[in-house]
Amino acid sequence: TSAQIGVSGLAVMGRNLARNFARNGYAVALHNRTPSRTRELVEEFGQEGTFVPTESAEEFVAALERPRRLVIMVKAGDPTDAVIREFAPLLESGDMIVDGGNAHFSDTRRREQELREQGIHFVGTGISGGEEGALRGPSIMPGGSAESYDSLGPMLEKIAADAADGAPCVTHVGADGAGHFVKMVHNGIEYADMQLIGEAYQLLRDVGGRSPEEIAGIFRAWNTGRLDSYLIEITAEVLSHVDAATGRPFVDVVADQAEQKGTGRWTVQLALELGVPVSGIAEAVFARSLSGHTALRRASRDLAGPVPQALGPTEAAAFADKVEQALYASKIVSYTQGFHEIAAGSAEYGWDVDLGAIAAIWRGGCIIRAAFLDRIRAAYDARPDLPSLLADEEFAAEIAEAQDDWRAVLVAATEQGVPAPGFAAALSYYDALRAERLPASLTQGQRDYFGAHTYHRTDREGTYHTLWGGDRTEVQA
Ligand code: NDP
Repeated sequence: TSAQIGVSGLAVMGRNLARNFARNGYAVALHNRTPSRTRELVEEFGQEGTFVPTESAEEFVAALERPRRLVIMVKAGDPTDAVIREFAPLLESGDMIVDGGNAHFSDTRRREQELREQGIHFVGTGISGGEEGALRGPSIMPGGSAESYDSLGPMLEKIAADAADGAPCVTHVGADGAGHFVKMVHNGIEYADMQLIGEAYQLLRDVGGRSPEEIAGIFRAWNTGRLDSYLIEITAEVLSHVDAATGRPFVDVVADQAEQKGTGRWTVQLALELGVPVSGIAEAVFARSLSGHTALRRASRDLAGPVPQALGPTEAAAFADKVEQALYASKIVSYTQGFHEIAAGSAEYGWDVDLGAIAAIWRGGCIIRAAFLDRIRAAYDARPDLPSLLADEEFAAEIAEAQDDWRAVLVAATEQGVPAPGFAAALSYYDALRAERLPASLTQGQRDYFGAHTYHRTDREGTYHTLWGGDRTEVQA
């Protein structure tokens, strides 16, 4: 049999992706550095479809119909380069290598360029949804050439998740590293969403006086409204889970040190390079880092500050509604920042990313899937040149409605000493954008004072410098 697609790298992700292709009727060639994984897949799941197991790169490449489509799902970084080096000499012009790993988009750009010289399409592809998604339908973010998408698109559409309206959660994101870039920002937004949910939980607990089980109920109720999303849903599940060993809430027996694999950090690093203020995502990454500084936290435990006092039951119910408003408003800001970064990356690297289409393919399959994304899609579809999500009338109106409660929640957090860096960063971003004047004018004055860095004036054109060390006259620079 000649296979329509091949998957190399058969750990959890690759194996489930291969099964997903097979279940959708494609003949799938299989390859893994350690052949036992290949044999295990066929033994366990061989009846799910047509698999062509192979044990060498030569055999794998020979098993594929032409032009060849190879998906590699190996550890990101050097292993990906090693696997490419192994396959590339065996391939011909027009063949396609899809890298579904979590590569840094700059590596993808380099690989795409190197392989393009050989006539090979390198398709860096973001895949979100974890193990389950890979099997049942992920959100897929392919970059690479438009020509490669003509060939791969129909297959990817088959294996992708479907959004609620039936549309497959895959689109050609843009050339070279565009897919991995967008996947990176997806993960950054995921960090921010998780942090905001965490802050809402902590406030409901410390200020609202609710138990994890009660908070699970609150999240379940929120999940029937505008916050309807996978992350809210699983948050309720985690909060209502009871530890079997101790009988205590699971969330109270888990060590409170959050780990990270790095895509959130990349999102912030890139934002710094592109000059895009993604303060919500940055706070989420820093919050995870802070949680891990156990010695520092232990040494700081006696620092002065209030001990949170829980509200009475009537006030607590009203407070929960306010937290919902704060969470929703902060979430709008996170997505505003994330989409700004995608727009900036798209402009920098010439990808022409369709922001509405990105919102659309995140509606299903991925970790941040949410009803909310339909609204973002609608906002960009109505106005593709929307300068910011906050410029959308509906989002602006919702924030207008939420802002009193958002501020009240932050007042309570501040007075009671409950950290809420995500909520606070989001509100500061919002207020900074609204501000008529920012203290950046003072910053310019300081820069001019100590470094003669010059400034512009509000009342006339030109570049100016004040002779700070002399008679303070102003000169044109
Ligand atoms: P791992 O990241 O754990 O990678 C294991 C696979 O890589 C195995 O097939 C292994 O082969 C292969 N491999 C490692 N080093 C080499 C090498 N030098 N040469 C050849 N093959 C090598 O597997 P996952 O399935 O978790 O993830 C695969 C990719 O998908 C990663 O890039 C990951 O970041 C990404 N991803 C993962 C998600 C998840 O939820 N896990 C979600 C989305 C993307 P061997 O069996 O021989 O050791």
